[in-house]
Amino acid sequence: MDGTDPAETHRSMIAVEIEEDRQLDRVLGQRLGSLEGPTLICVGSLHGNEPAGTLAFQKVLRKLEEQNLAIRGEFLGLLGNRAAYKAHQRFMIHDLNRYWLPHRIQASLAGELDNSSSPEDIELHELRLELAEIFDRRRGRIFFLDLHTTSGGGQPFAVMSDTLRNRSFAMEFPVPVIVGLEEELEGTLSEYLGRLGAVTMGFEGGQHEELSSVDLCEAAIWIALETSGILAADSAPEPEIGRKILARLCQDLPRVFEIRLRHPIREGDGFKMEPGFKSFEKIHKGQLLARDRSGDCHAKENGRILMPLYQEQGEDGYFEIRRFSPFWLGVSRALREAHIDRVVHWLPGVRRHPDSKDALVINRHVARFYSLQLFHLLGFRRHRSVGDRLLMIRQQRDLPEE
Ligand SMILES: [Zn+2]
Repeated sequence: MDGTDPAETHRSMIAVEIEEDRQLDRVLGQRLGSLEGPTLICVGSLHGNEPAGTLAFQKVLRKLEEQNLAIRGEFLGLLGNRAAYKAHQRFMIHDLNRYWLPHRIQASLAGELDNSSSPEDIELHELRLELAEIFDRRRGRIFFLDLHTTSGGGQPFAVMSDTLRNRSFAMEFPVPVIVGLEEELEGTLSEYLGRLGAVTMGFEGGQHEELSSVDLCEAAIWIALETSGILAADSAPEPEIGRKILARLCQDLPRVFEIRLRHPIREGDGFKMEPGFKSFEKIHKGQLLARDRSGDCHAKENGRILMPLYQEQGEDGYFEIRRFSPFWLGVSRALREAHIDRVVHWLPGVRRHPDSKDALVINRHVARFYSLQLFHLLGFRRHRSVGDRLLMIRQQRDLPEE
């Protein structure tokens, strides 16, 4: 033993790999199949301090080219927040994965962001133009894989907006799937692309600086290539190797979790996580998790912790999660396939929003007997409360299979 910490060695190795390509273009690379087929868009480093997804995409593309593997459709990678990637930080001024809000997209469409001096305005605008071109030349369904890593350690996992088509895709990855996160976060790129009709999934591939995070993101990309049908089944060993790597790491974890609580961080509240937490670690009600100016932050219930924050930038301190029973997933599929969502406004205290057929207005006094869970199962998410009224909007529509 020479006394060096293997984790430290890994970290310096990833640093060397990254240093070489800080000047990357927006399009990391692309491969076009001779046959029609789906498109898989991988985005790496939407948070600039998360290099693993970007490196993993480059590795997969290189292997596809070296082995001259035949694909259908299109496979490409985009660099998320270029400016922040060059600066080694999560974002410059605004979190680019909370920035895809309707008014800003409108501004981009109207050309108002062309000369913006805000770094993330420019990032959003350039990315949107690139994505629009990809959608224009599509020759099949579009899949979006958003590659991230976390500041704390823990097993890899998938995050999805809970539509049936996203679910079918996400369940092909042998990692825990987290539902309900999208309800807590506004303005994610996944949400934007989902609304444009893409099948979307976020993948969290371990800790930011670990070299193994590149391998985990690589595994996810190979599985996505095969699951989407871009790479024919069994035409390469990598997807199966990837499944084995992920399955081994996650074998002791339940298949699906739901978000129970998000601990938000506000500017200047001095949030500090207690040391040593990792994603999926079990926590018990009342356990001390973090401290801030207003005092100690204790776990609200028995469950597990997700994404404890051990970095300066970020608006989420940690999440509390709990196992979500596959039984309810089945119920939810049945309800949606029976289109119960179309008649849910017949319930007392529930009505359709006058301006949108995808929104429900719920009178909490009248409708307090059925829980929010019912609406979640039907594919609606909480949008906002106004007095005793709650507005819920449908997540990306469950489009018919193409
Ligand atoms: Zn991230």
